[in-house]
Amino acid sequence: MLKPGATIGILGGGQLGRMLALAAQQLGLKVHIYSPDKDSCAFDVVHTFTCADYDDEAALGRFANSVDVITYEFENVPAKTAAFLAKRKPVLPDPRVLELTQDRLIEKNFISELRIGTAPYAAVHSASQLADGVAKVGLPAVLKTKRLGYDGKGQAKIAKGGDANAAWRSLKNEPCILEGFIDFEREVSVIAARSADGKIECFEVTENEHRDHILHISKVPAKVSPALAAEARRIATRIAKAFDYVGVLAVEMFVVRTGKKRTVLVNEIAPRVHNSGHWTIDGATVSQFEQHIRAVAGWPLGKPIRLGRVEMINLIGAEVNQASHWLTVPGASLHLYGKKDARAGRKMGHVTKVISK
Ligand code: AMP
Repeated sequence: MLKPGATIGILGGGQLGRMLALAAQQLGLKVHIYSPDKDSCAFDVVHTFTCADYDDEAALGRFANSVDVITYEFENVPAKTAAFLAKRKPVLPDPRVLELTQDRLIEKNFISELRIGTAPYAAVHSASQLADGVAKVGLPAVLKTKRLGYDGKGQAKIAKGGDANAAWRSLKNEPCILEGFIDFEREVSVIAARSADGKIECFEVTENEHRDHILHISKVPAKVSPALAAEARRIATRIAKAFDYVGVLAVEMFVVRTGKKRTVLVNEIAPRVHNSGHWTIDGATVSQFEQHIRAVAGWPLGKPIRLGRVEMINLIGAEVNQASHWLTVPGASLHLYGKKDARAGRKMGHVTKVISK
């Protein structure tokens, strides 16, 4: 259990690292950010940071020596980096979780072994596997690179009667997973926190709307029945337990309807704090960032109480130019990440509206 004044090392310097650092500081903890990107927006809010590559062992060694525990704000931390650091200081969540979530095929197999539903899927490492996959899951389908995809990057939809080989070529014939296209009713996520002693707290189920494959709006509570919400939270709880997880994770799910019956299928697990949990900063008594810091510090989790009906709106690219409008909206809280360049598709900030009790 860390004492106030101890230092948490965070791998990654984006907005998630920045908001984790702010939460840690509120609890009297210090933060050391490690990121290879000199423009990391998390550097701006901490006293100590290291700007070095993930394979710079001298810099990693100094970083490990300067902190008490290490965590990460993104799932693509190279396995070698995580292993090097884990020999020197505790790394939480355990780096084994990275191996299970960096590869979409390993992740889907893991979820299926827990007997949790997913879209039908097949591995695609060759043209013949692609043909077999199309026969197995049917069309329409989505082809996704196994590694390093996000916000719709590394994905190609194959329409009914479409050309699967052309879709695979568009992804440079990289190893892929083919998923049956799910005609979902809505998308939801569950943000769950698990403490070092195995206690779990889930935030309420969040409903997510995407625009151009990027999260646009999250709303809480999601428009799902209490039974379905309980089922979604049970699934997130089972995944967190199966990972022996310490920290916050997000489970993205599709709500599907067959006749009158609705169920959820898991789309993806993010072993980190998540954009769809940003509403918790202003909309709940404890945020996802604070829960993560509490967990990796070995502290008890908070019992999150939602403060009203909440909406979180992402400010993407040039939308950040309308930030001053949000300053005048009653009940709205503005969060800007301090990024210099408002490139198209870049997450520049978000707004949370706490609408009513
Ligand atoms: P992902 O990168 O896997 O989170 O996918 C990004 C978005 O693409 C999801 O949030 C969905 O809106 C959509 N999507 C991904 N997989 C599927 C699927 N199998 N069926 C339908 N839509 C999907």
